[in-house]
Amino acid sequence: MAEEPKDRFLSQRRNGWGRLTVMALLLAFGTVAGPWARADEPFARSRDYDLQNARIELRFDVEQRRVMGQVTHTLTTLKEGLRELDFDSVGLTILSAKVDGKDAHFSTDSTKLHVDLERAGKAGEKHEVAIRYQGSPKKGLHFILPNKSYSAQPKEIWTQGEAEETRYYIPIYDYPNDKTTTEMIVTVPREWVTVSNGKLESVAEAGQGMKTWTWRQSQPISTYLISLVAGEFDESKKNWHNIPVDYRVPRGEAERIEPTFARTPEMLSFFSERLGVLYPWEKYDQTAVDQFTLGGMENASATTLTARSLLHPMLAHESLEGADGLISHEMSHQWFGDLVTTKDWANLWLNEGFATFMATLWEEHHYGADNAAYARWRAQGAWFRQRRLFDVPIVTHEFSNSMQYAGNIYGKAGLVLQMLREKLGDDAFFHALQHYLEANRLQNVATADLVKAIEESTHVDVDRFFEEWIYGGGAPRFSVSTIYDASAKQVHMEVKQTQEVRGHVGLFEVPVEVAVTTAAGTKSFPITLSKAEETFSFEAESEPLLVLFDKGDKILKSVEFHKTPAEWIYQLQRAEDVPDRADAAVALGDMKGNDAAIAALGEAAAHDHFWGVRVQALTALGKIGGTEAEKGVLAGLSDAEPWVREVAVEQLGKFSADSGLGARLAEIAGKDNAYRVRAAALMSLGQRKSEGAMGTLEGAAKTDSPDDVIRRAALRAMGALGDDKAAPQLLDWVEPGKPMRLRTAAIDSLGKVAKKDEAVESRLIALLNDPDFDIRLATVYALGERGDPAAIEPLETLRNSGDIPSGGGLVIEQQIARIKNPRAGEDQASAAERPANRGQASGTQQGGEQIVQRLDKIEQNLAEMNERLKKIEQQQAARATP
Ligand SMILES: [Zn+2]
Repeated sequence: MAEEPKDRFLSQRRNGWGRLTVMALLLAFGTVAGPWARADEPFARSRDYDLQNARIELRFDVEQRRVMGQVTHTLTTLKEGLRELDFDSVGLTILSAKVDGKDAHFSTDSTKLHVDLERAGKAGEKHEVAIRYQGSPKKGLHFILPNKSYSAQPKEIWTQGEAEETRYYIPIYDYPNDKTTTEMIVTVPREWVTVSNGKLESVAEAGQGMKTWTWRQSQPISTYLISLVAGEFDESKKNWHNIPVDYRVPRGEAERIEPTFARTPEMLSFFSERLGVLYPWEKYDQTAVDQFTLGGMENASATTLTARSLLHPMLAHESLEGADGLISHEMSHQWFGDLVTTKDWANLWLNEGFATFMATLWEEHHYGADNAAYARWRAQGAWFRQRRLFDVPIVTHEFSNSMQYAGNIYGKAGLVLQMLREKLGDDAFFHALQHYLEANRLQNVATADLVKAIEESTHVDVDRFFEEWIYGGGAPRFSVSTIYDASAKQVHMEVKQTQEVRGHVGLFEVPVEVAVTTAAGTKSFPITLSKAEETFSFEAESEPLLVLFDKGDKILKSVEFHKTPAEWIYQLQRAEDVPDRADAAVALGDMKGNDAAIAALGEAAAHDHFWGVRVQALTALGKIGGTEAEKGVLAGLSDAEPWVREVAVEQLGKFSADSGLGARLAEIAGKDNAYRVRAAALMSLGQRKSEGAMGTLEGAAKTDSPDDVIRRAALRAMGALGDDKAAPQLLDWVEPGKPMRLRTAAIDSLGKVAKKDEAVESRLIALLNDPDFDIRLATVYALGERGDPAAIEPLETLRNSGDIPSGGGLVIEQQIARIKNPRAGEDQASAAERPANRGQASGTQQGGEQIVQRLDKIEQNLAEMNERLKKIEQQQAARATP
């Protein structure tokens, strides 16, 4: 996230399909540097003082979007002869500063407030510094307000501190390597509610229709975790172990609380027990807000979530895991990130890698080992597809922005922790985590603190493991071949590590389980690989039916292992572990024209007991194409799981030869009992440009459904269809006052139709000034897609305005480049990086990976995101495919 941190769980419009918000975009284009990109400080600062308490008093001029504040810092100096105290402060007007009750001289520059001390003091002196200020923050503090077009919008104020934005609304020490207790004293209209860190101490009348809320966080936290949410919210109050566990959602959304948050108490119990460290704070609040620029943010005891993650009660059952991925991710940060906090952004994996790992642990616990294994298999593929990450270690100080390598600090780090768990075994691993959390409770850490805790508690030396996986880059790329020696009754296996050894990438020492199956049964052979080239021999009574290298896919790696179609078919049918069967499905998907492969895939699509393998088989059949494959895909239409039927319907979009399919898809669009499947059918109709599709889409655009799922899909499908006749109605839907999710869908589609129509172009250009950031962002993309040079100047104006939250400038730059050089977009998502399947990363490799599908821009973004983000995204849109 080029700049905006962090919890980059990006999100769809509420229950809609489609647009990724800015986090995803930042992930997608994080490599593009530019003047708008804030340079997060990679190295921790040296400190002049130790902040002990920050008493923050805030009032607002809501209409003017202004904050009037006073912050009183209690601190102890750490340096001899200190003459001034520096605070991070951006864009705020400082009205006065007092030190120990006396007016003090102060000065400001663009990033700091300097408060003079009367005399050079000694280290260890305690001071109280009171600062009065006001301002209209561009970042850090956000006002979401009704306007003429959206008069029902609940009023909301929310903050977002990570990485370095607390300084936009509080003059404060704003780097993770200091922790302070806080008081948040906030005066708001009496009918509002507020949420902040820690315990609610009081709510008092403040006159003139106002109330003052006082929150106290009595255990120290890093200042990027300070949070305030205030406004018009519905709430539901629960308890867990005698602490309040409350849920708040924008006013009017109360029916979404139960489907979204129901499993929170069970999750708190699971994490507390599994880690052996009781949930550490005085309460746990989760508050969903509108227009949040992230998916979620783990503010200590007061998580903020995007309201887009809230589940509509009528759609909740269409989603396997609901918002659990997001909720469990943020919750696990309450231990990893909040209780124990990275000292600098370079070690951010200690926050994010653990949160990623823990979310999959919840998935394993609640949804079963197969779901977790499948999630990890997809995460491996997602990481390998982001090639720019390969050479870069998880811990690196070489970045201009802490989110530049999000795919390493989230996805890869989560997988590395899983490998560490495998290495140590569950008992030792979780005992080590408990020791790490207890030994560093309420403190800052670097990676060395984790290594030390592991070695102290397990007596296992993990230096080499960390050297290879955390401080080194890359992952092993194996080339494997076997021959069977019938006379010796042995399988000879040759293994090469083919990754280029240079820079931060070396050879890996990894344990691997080889499983050899013959007619007599399966034998397992654990081996350890460490050299560029090694050979092994395994006993086998007869020629093997199947050899698995790294059974169960435990190691982050890619493998080139040539097998016969019969071996792949056997693997698809018989392999015990989901990842091995999924690998086989991907491999067979490259075997066009092989009837046995198609038959086996059809069988798996219909009957594999795990839904993810059925999805992979359907996807492989879609890739193969042809009449026989189509039969297999059609069988998927009767799958019990909507997220599998949806994939079948999506694949049917590729079978353009069958003239009867249009009617079938139109029928599904009208009557499948899952909205997500109906929506997918509309998209497929558009994509395959079925005859009469426009009529079906126009009808669907008039159909009411929860969260407008159907109408939104119809508008998006009009873009996929590319029929210029759609332009007038799409233009109707972009107007202010229409639901946001429909506006963005219509804008997306206007990127693809009537490209020569100047009226459409100029309407879109005007939307660059829309007050809603999501609308502006959608418009930026649509203009890039249209490619009309008339948009360049307006785009540059927007970029230069500085009025773009969260590094959206990166996205604008990207789209300008696309207009100037239409081929640039192609290069950005070069074929090899597109998510056709996971073939690159797993055991398939039937030669050059052929990308069969021109993916639209959203899918390109997905390709760049780490798997976890992608998964949440899909869950929220009630999608299921990898
Ligand atoms: Zn996170």
